[in-house]
Amino acid sequence: MSDQKKFCYMCHRPEGEETGKLIQIAPELFVCPGCMQKTFDAMGLFAGANKSGTTNSTKTSGETKEKPLEGSVEGAETEEAPKNNNAFDFSKIPGLQFINLSDLPNFASMGFPGFGQVNNPKKKKGKKAKEAKEGEESFPVIDITNIPPPHEIKALLDEHVVGQEHAKKVMSVAVYNHYKRVIDRENMLESNEDGVEIEKSNMLMIGPTGSGKTYMVKTIARLLDVPLAITDATSLTEAGYIGDDIESVVSKLLAAADNDVEKAERGIIFIDEIDKLAKKRNTNQRDVSGESVQQGMLKLLEGAEVEVPVGASSKNAMVPMTIVDTSNILFICGGAFPDLEDVIKERLNKSSSMGFVADLKDKYDKDDNILGKVIPEDLRKFGMIPEFIGRLPVIFALEKLTEDMFVRILTEPKNAIVKQYKKLLMFDEVDLQFEEDALLAIAKAARERELGARALRSIIEEFMLDIMYEIPKDDNIGTVIITKDYVEKKGGPRIIPRDGTVAIPQKRSEMRS
Ligand code: ADP
Repeated sequence: MSDQKKFCYMCHRPEGEETGKLIQIAPELFVCPGCMQKTFDAMGLFAGANKSGTTNSTKTSGETKEKPLEGSVEGAETEEAPKNNNAFDFSKIPGLQFINLSDLPNFASMGFPGFGQVNNPKKKKGKKAKEAKEGEESFPVIDITNIPPPHEIKALLDEHVVGQEHAKKVMSVAVYNHYKRVIDRENMLESNEDGVEIEKSNMLMIGPTGSGKTYMVKTIARLLDVPLAITDATSLTEAGYIGDDIESVVSKLLAAADNDVEKAERGIIFIDEIDKLAKKRNTNQRDVSGESVQQGMLKLLEGAEVEVPVGASSKNAMVPMTIVDTSNILFICGGAFPDLEDVIKERLNKSSSMGFVADLKDKYDKDDNILGKVIPEDLRKFGMIPEFIGRLPVIFALEKLTEDMFVRILTEPKNAIVKQYKKLLMFDEVDLQFEEDALLAIAKAARERELGARALRSIIEEFMLDIMYEIPKDDNIGTVIITKDYVEKKGGPRIIPRDGTVAIPQKRSEMRS
């Protein structure tokens, strides 16, 4: 740390003659005396609080007792902070000890973005901090009591989910119908006028791993601002056996809704790996984690009142219980359903080879999106029980991701991976660019790994490590261009210095120190 160049957190100027000695206000966080003075001027604090007449902020560069600005200033008074020679002693400033900068609502808008973040770690805990972390992306919230039409829901999904047009369309309609039904049920409880009750639109999503099943569910839950519980079907067992009992999924949702029953009753439960519950063939033993779980879930999917523990995941005598009605909870099940393609192909080949419409026998062998042709009968053959499939009326498949879609996933969504890395390097005032060929090379490598879009991050992470390690060492680097050769480990990225336009190609090995 000590031999690294220090930069002012606010004006980004390096420590030098121009700035004077930087003041350390937190570990690895420095501000120049000029900006510090501007801060106090903007707050109008200094003059008013100056009882002892000390107004010179440059005097505070810490020759005496040191306390870094961590935690509230009140805390700094009572707690012994670690000694640091450059740290800024806020207790020296009269009148400031009772002021927590992060409590000042307009402080950031005065041109000091992010300043509040360094002040009070205590504040980071709890709901607000959770929201701040998860809310890196700004999500417009759909009002579920006044649900917008499906095309508007899909337009919002489009901002986050690349491709999967059919899946997004089906999901938007299903969500629209579901929350219309919720409102209708609530009205019906008050006046049972026509006696027509709309059925639930629970969904079954079929798609290979990494195709975005969980991501789509998470996105829709955040757009709707409803609680979401995600469970793995493989962890569930019939009640009384080792494993989580089926009702535990409702406890999870209640926890996600901060134990607010009403909120939980409008939430979403996503059960992943549902294909693992398929009936096991050729077995005489009791199937406690497969078919029995499917049976046990029927009531939940349809709508039942279940007694669940509050604030705990398992029932016991010490935990208070509450009743949750699952009638309005939207259940979404997801799975990769390996071998289902063969079942579908077999059916399609059989029907196409019969009668006048006889067709080529291998017509469907090369069809990449054969899963899109699934019908409930195929799922029954796969091992799902008919009653279970019947309670998931909205069945749809996600497309297998192509290289072109990988490139779009890298760059297009609001929170795209490339945008994230660009932002990271922007903190070092370096412009990160990706050549088109480089993006294609990443997509190609991801496709070869067969892990879906999940592979993208790990591939980028591998080669960005060196860049993120080396770049902050050299102040003169202005632009880094990721090339195809660098991705394929045949060469290096192109580096453009700040003071000129001469590109210095670097080998990957040279990047390593
Ligand atoms: P799974 O289908 O196995 O549940 P995930 O939903 O966990 O896959 O997808 C893994 C990651 O890939 C997600 O976190 C998301 O960032 C990315 N991803 C997958 N599909 C898409 C897509 N269509 N659009 C944008 N990002 C996607």
